[in-house]
Amino acid sequence: MSAIDIIKRRLKEDRIPETPEEVGQKKKRPREVAFMDVNLCFPCGKCPEFCPVQCIEYLSPGSVPGRGVQPVQDRFQECIGCYICVEVCALLTDYDAVRMYDSSLVEEVLGVKITDTPPATEIPAQPYEEYFSEGGLYRHVGKGSRIREKMTAEERAIFARERVRG
Ligand code: SF4
Ligand code: SF4
Repeated sequence: MSAIDIIKRRLKEDRIPETPEEVGQKKKRPREVAFMDVNLCFPCGKCPEFCPVQCIEYLSPGSVPGRGVQPVQDRFQECIGCYICVEVCALLTDYDAVRMYDSSLVEEVLGVKITDTPPATEIPAQPYEEYFSEGGLYRHVGKGSRIREKMTAEERAIFARERVRG
């Protein structure tokens, strides 16, 4: 079993309902959506690989000044709130850069509507550093992972083997 299989199984046990097996797209309004702290993202490229709706992208050149390779951010209006990127970043990297935010809060802060379908035209991701980075207005403190404490020694060994080191 691979680390991503363990993440999906544990999230299912944790009653995160929207973790699909296959790549798909949003079918209902998520309760929460993900944002990466662009200052913490390495970027290792792991979470874009595993996002089930493929909504995590590298920011366009110059989005975060001073960064050569730009960090990643998700197109939050496509996010299904599955927590996979949170767990991947917390458990497979040293960065723990992703947090989930209440959709209603995001609507209020960004002046948008989060609906039950993805936008007709892709809306490029932005850094949102002032809101969702450390020192920003809404960044959640504490650890991102909600499954770390439940993992067995065997599962931890699998994560140790697959871990990305920067
Ligand atoms: S897993 Fe974390 S460090 Fe890696 S690309 Fe995603 S947010 Fe960045
Ligand atoms: S929570 Fe993360 S992995 Fe899941 S859909 Fe949203 S951006 Fe993609």
